[in-house]
Amino acid sequence: MKIVVIGLGHMGGNMALTLHAAGFEVLGTDVTENARNGMASRGLSVFSPEDALPSADVYLLSLPTSAHVREVIESSPGILRQAPAGSVIVDTSTSDPVVTRELAGKVVEAGLEWLDAPVSGGPAGAAAGTLGMLLGGGEATIERVEPMLKAMSSRYTHVGAAGSGHVVKLANNYLCAAHLLTTAEAVALAQRAGVEPEACLAGLNSGSGRSAVSEVNFPKWIISDTFDSGFTTGLMRKDLRLARDAAIGQGLSLDLLSQVVERWHAGLDDLPDSADFNHVTDAILRLAQG
Ligand code: NAD
Repeated sequence: MKIVVIGLGHMGGNMALTLHAAGFEVLGTDVTENARNGMASRGLSVFSPEDALPSADVYLLSLPTSAHVREVIESSPGILRQAPAGSVIVDTSTSDPVVTRELAGKVVEAGLEWLDAPVSGGPAGAAAGTLGMLLGGGEATIERVEPMLKAMSSRYTHVGAAGSGHVVKLANNYLCAAHLLTTAEAVALAQRAGVEPEACLAGLNSGSGRSAVSEVNFPKWIISDTFDSGFTTGLMRKDLRLARDAAIGQGLSLDLLSQVVERWHAGLDDLPDSADFNHVTDAILRLAQG
């Protein structure tokens, strides 16, 4: 199976290397020369976005937003005009489901196949081939690319037709963003009452308040003061805006979601988009110190 990876950043670069190491023929590209050179120095074959798109069985996208995904698919000359009939577009980005459904329709109309496959697990999961994946698309398409999915993911879940993977990914990231705020408040409460954060987390993780945030984010990136998860505040803000827009688009008024979006965008000591997303807990945890 020949795979072209478009977007060699934190996630795409690691996915490309994992697929290459698993024996797939992989070619990668990125608009940033640094990203291309970095991957080439680690043994990956790269090409410039200005070159003709190489023929492949799968085009794996790992791009910041739906606007970038639209550009690589629809621009001239984009995937729609250059990819061979029957090839599969797999969008692992966290994208806007409305745009995804529109693009998936155009892709299928052009004789290609579509799968949305947003991921969880960060750059470390991408490097280890242990990502969680949420799949939106047809069963037959999933079967066609299953060897590739198995090399990237230890757990992938088919959640529905095209766009469904992106819908569930937004729901997931809403919960993660909320858990960061609520777990920080729980830890601050315990600390003010004389319980050390480590002891508080050990207790939470043996009880019903635990989550990936209490089990992974707090020990690995927050309490350890490393803040090197490879996922930025800006990307989480994008995901939250998409989740809010998806709710509004469905005529749903979700008060807690609105509050979480608001909190992540304001009242966080001007936390820059480039900061590690775990820094969202800083202001709350400082409250515990008085
Ligand atoms: P990133 O910014 O590190 O990488 C994106 C890459 O895409 C960049 O290198 C950029 O130069 C490249 N790019 C932009 N436009 C391009 C184009 N037209 N053609 C080719 N390359 C182009 O971002 P990331 O952290 O790797 O995230 C990628 C996607 O995965 C995002 O949608 C993000 O929300 C999602 N995601 C990230 C994580 C994480 O932990 N970083 C986890 C899950 C999901």
